[in-house]
Amino acid sequence: MTTAWRWFLAAGLGAVAVELVLPVGAGRDVLYLAIAYAAPLAILVGVRVHRPRRRLPWMLLAAGSLCWAVGDTAWSYYADIAATEPFPSAADVFYLLAYPLLAGAMYQFTRGASRRGDVSAVIDALITATAATVVLWVWFIEPTWTDPAGTLLERVVGVAYPIGDVLLVAQLLHLGALPVVRATSVRLLGLGIGAVLVADVLFQAAGYVPAIGAREAWLDVGWLVGYLLWGACALHPSMHRTTEVPGVRATALTTRRVAFLALSALVLPGVLLVELALGQPPHIAPVAVTAVLLIGLVLVRMLGMVRYMREQAARLARLADTDFITGLENARRFSERIDDLLTTPPGQRDADRPGAAILLIAVERLGEVNDTLGLGTGDELLRAIGERLRESVADDGVVARMGGVSFGVLLPGVLSGDRAATRAADLHRAFATPFALPEMSVSVDISVGIAIAPTDAQTATALLARADVALSAARQAQEHVARYAEQMEMNEALTPQLMGELVQAMADGDVIVHYQPQVEIASGRVLGVEALVRWQHPQHGLLGPGAFVPAAERTGLIGGLTRYVLDRALAQAAAWRAEGCELNVSVNLSVRNLLDPAFVNDVEGALTRHHIPARCLELEVTETMAMLDPHRSVEVLGALADLGVLLSLDDYGTGHSSLAYLQRLPLRRLKIDRSFVTDVLTDKASAAIVRSTIELARHLGLSVVAEGVEDDETLVALRDMRCFAAQGFGLARPASPERIPGIVTALEERIPEVVAVGLSSQRTA
Ligand code: C2E
Ligand code: MG
Ligand code: MG
Repeated sequence: MTTAWRWFLAAGLGAVAVELVLPVGAGRDVLYLAIAYAAPLAILVGVRVHRPRRRLPWMLLAAGSLCWAVGDTAWSYYADIAATEPFPSAADVFYLLAYPLLAGAMYQFTRGASRRGDVSAVIDALITATAATVVLWVWFIEPTWTDPAGTLLERVVGVAYPIGDVLLVAQLLHLGALPVVRATSVRLLGLGIGAVLVADVLFQAAGYVPAIGAREAWLDVGWLVGYLLWGACALHPSMHRTTEVPGVRATALTTRRVAFLALSALVLPGVLLVELALGQPPHIAPVAVTAVLLIGLVLVRMLGMVRYMREQAARLARLADTDFITGLENARRFSERIDDLLTTPPGQRDADRPGAAILLIAVERLGEVNDTLGLGTGDELLRAIGERLRESVADDGVVARMGGVSFGVLLPGVLSGDRAATRAADLHRAFATPFALPEMSVSVDISVGIAIAPTDAQTATALLARADVALSAARQAQEHVARYAEQMEMNEALTPQLMGELVQAMADGDVIVHYQPQVEIASGRVLGVEALVRWQHPQHGLLGPGAFVPAAERTGLIGGLTRYVLDRALAQAAAWRAEGCELNVSVNLSVRNLLDPAFVNDVEGALTRHHIPARCLELEVTETMAMLDPHRSVEVLGALADLGVLLSLDDYGTGHSSLAYLQRLPLRRLKIDRSFVTDVLTDKASAAIVRSTIELARHLGLSVVAEGVEDDETLVALRDMRCFAAQGFGLARPASPERIPGIVTALEERIPEVVAVGLSSQRTA
């Protein structure tokens, strides 16, 4: 059925061609009528097959088409059988009836297409139709109307035709003016009406131009092609769309419409010029009346246009200030607001300037949500996050999305770091509840960087930059909150320079490794040492890993750095062995190492190079690292475990992974983060966490190392919790490799006593 319209059109055009060559007579008339009746029939078939949602326009079209066919039948009867050509006749009744039906059909087609209340398309059509009317008036309506030979009825009917044509022209233009009416079906309809109109006008002009009159048979082609086209338009598969076009604004002036309107205006002087050229008396009055009418219409149209532009401008302004995913304010508006708040109003002193705190919030691990659940869910989550921030901030401030995964909160009047920190804690609390998304619930963490105006900065740009510096620090911090401090800035500012120097520093041996012993609590034996990188920088002195490891991770230099530390640590282990001091070494990995399949070979190569058995090497990974890309991490970790290397989980407790999940990784050791261990003696919750972690780990076959043991009391408490090993300043600070053998000896003498004393003091107690 999809090609039926083509067959219909092809067969019809073939018939028209035959009709043209047939001699005048009954045969030719029968063919003409067959084509004329085929059109309403095709429309009915089209409606049946394609089942459009609204049938009314199609029924009107079919009725109009049928009227024309009946008119043609009556005409043939008069011409061939009765051999009289009365005017007006029954044929005229049907012909004239067809005009309102066809115009009504076209109106119905366009009804759904222009937006409610948007009359621009109608006004455009009126403008052009008004211009067309003046032409028809001057050459068709007025001569017919004032023809002294005609009776009143003849004159009325004679004038009705051009008026019907104007009606169709107006509807046709209205149809063409709607930009969405792109369906082929609508085009065919427009072409069909156009063909009929051309034939009509030529037929009426035949009275003036003898050349047309002589070839009147050709006019049949115009009408017949018109009939065929609107038959085909109903058969076209796109026909059901013609009445379902979404509402559009026709107000916006396209070039085509401007051209149409300009041409309409040019018709007026054109009429006068043609009349002058033909030597006819010019119709000044009708042209003047039309001009007034046109000016009025154009004025109305322009007013609509101005209103539309104003609406558009308001809409654009709104869009320019809004983040399109969350509907929150965007970064541009946010910084504008901060500037507004920080600018001293005229006539006031700087000191009166109201201050504000801004909290810059980064949503952690949203990238994973996007990767695993798809962007749509990621957007959904962003919206929910925005909503939750807005609820948490309520009326005290403004929430904006700064782009990507970061949000901003502006808290006017909050000037103390403590108050800002309290608000940050509120936000953290608000994020404790997971987000219920359609498919699953997701928990997300946030980091909050705080900067306060005017203390930290006086302009929006500076304040935002400082909040960003604080945010970087917050991401590293245990509680995921940080207030801006100048110190941070130095680290930040230093980073690009440091990254430029890192490779050379490694080559020059300026990157060094310190070692911190790990002690088995029960025996006091030193099991091994953790390799901790430092940079002996010629200008900045001894830099800790915090100053360059995170940046090396971001810039990809971490791969080389890890290999470097691994190599130095294994070389050192070999050197100690040669001195008779057997120490395991443990090296910290970074997430990029776990994503790099070649890393396993690097480890194996280094072990072979330094003749160190794999079991003497420990590699530390953090939970967040292992969670980032569980599939790939599992692969690399599995291969490392197969080498015989001991894998341990560093900083346990700071992430949010469950031991049940971690159990799936080939880990053999847990290092409890020092934030819990340091407080074991003073904080019941920390003590409970450490205790239960140790127990759970034991059940899972993992040994536990407590990090950050700063005094002997803590060590004793850990012994009571049956913790396997300890590491911390209270045992030994990280030290250069030369000092390690001495430290080990001292530790192995002292610790058994501490532990035993702890035991005896407990016994005596
Ligand atoms: P980490 O692996 O948890 O290392 C332990 C950190 O805690 C070390 O800090 C150590 O000096 C410190 N520490 C040990 N005992 C105590 C204590 O009793 N109290 C306190 N307050 N701190 C203690 P450091 O050397 O600054 O290293 C910080 C972090 O940098 C390390 O945390 C590790 O994640 C990372 N890192 C160090 N070296 C490397 C490396 O070669 N590669 C990678 N990727 N990361 C490294
Ligand atoms: Mg470590
Ligand atoms: Mg650690």
